[in-house]
Amino acid sequence: MPGYAKPVFLIFFVIIVAGTTGGFLAADRGRRVFVWCLLCGLLPPFLLILYFAKPLCEVEGVFKKCSKCGELIKWHSPVCKYCKTEQPG
Ligand SMILES: [Zn+2]
Repeated sequence: MPGYAKPVFLIFFVIIVAGTTGGFLAADRGRRVFVWCLLCGLLPPFLLILYFAKPLCEVEGVFKKCSKCGELIKWHSPVCKYCKTEQPG
């Protein structure tokens, strides 16, 4: 590999890894995958923002709405962490 190719390769590697991670995180949170893929690829700190972001909507197998208060909670969570209501199913 020529000397100049190494940093270019490294940058592409970071963009691809950060972008892919961002895409998966976005999908888990019901956000637009493509937009977050680009954002995280170009600016990896967005990964942190996305990681701590609340989901926007119910995501099958990941987040569901509490049957009582309507807050989004983890799919398999037996009790709502906001109102402590037991979840059916
Ligand atoms: Zn609740």
